[in-house]
Amino acid sequence: METFYLIYSVILGLVIGSFLNVCIYRIPREESIAYPPSHCTNCGYRLKWFDLIPLFSYLFLGGKCRKCGDKISFIYPFIEMATGILFGILYLKFGLGFEFFKYATLFAVMIVIGMIDYFTTDVYFKTIVFGTIMGVIFVLIEKLYYNNPILTYIFGALLGAGIIWVIFIITKAMGEGDIEICFVAGLFLGFKLTSIMILLSFIIGGFIGMILIALKIKDRKDYIPFGPFIGLATIITVLYGDIILKWYSSLF
Ligand SMILES: [Zn+2]
Repeated sequence: METFYLIYSVILGLVIGSFLNVCIYRIPREESIAYPPSHCTNCGYRLKWFDLIPLFSYLFLGGKCRKCGDKISFIYPFIEMATGILFGILYLKFGLGFEFFKYATLFAVMIVIGMIDYFTTDVYFKTIVFGTIMGVIFVLIEKLYYNNPILTYIFGALLGAGIIWVIFIITKAMGEGDIEICFVAGLFLGFKLTSIMILLSFIIGGFIGMILIALKIKDRKDYIPFGPFIGLATIITVLYGDIILKWYSSLF
């Protein structure tokens, strides 16, 4: 049964990942995410059901459109695979209950926001609104169904948004979108995990930023979107935040 649920989680992740690709591609282009059905963005070929099997269709078609042979970015199957793996790890850590669905939702939101920020350096308001609504729903379920304290989520959201806001005011180095992303992440993570997430995002961002500058891919003056780092830090914090917290408190 364990293996069955694990496979179920991974397949769910692959399918959701496929939908996240649609969001990542269409939201910045102001297109509907529901209509028209998936098509080749080069020749308009409408994808059949067998072209839409996550990961496998891409591998089978060799990363090209069936009709016009236009290359499809490897980013798309990568997103599908990553979402599948992440959902699998979520299942192994939390089982298939409330926490699984809460964090799977958070991962989906962070992947879409992070990737759109990576491609366009913009954070779209509708993605923030969606993330906030989902966050509030999960907080309400915690309160009304499990009767857990929920103040931590409100403080988490305020902490996330507050720290980035202060940095934004002082340095102007970060975008206003980063404030919104951390607000959403904080709403899901709660106070303690949000502080870990913020710290991690700066470590990851600083590290990758240094590598990009050292490799001359980016210049010191270039704008490097911070959203992907917040997304990555959020995912690591959900999966390993408790371990980091234990290790950190053992230092004192
Ligand atoms: Zn095509």
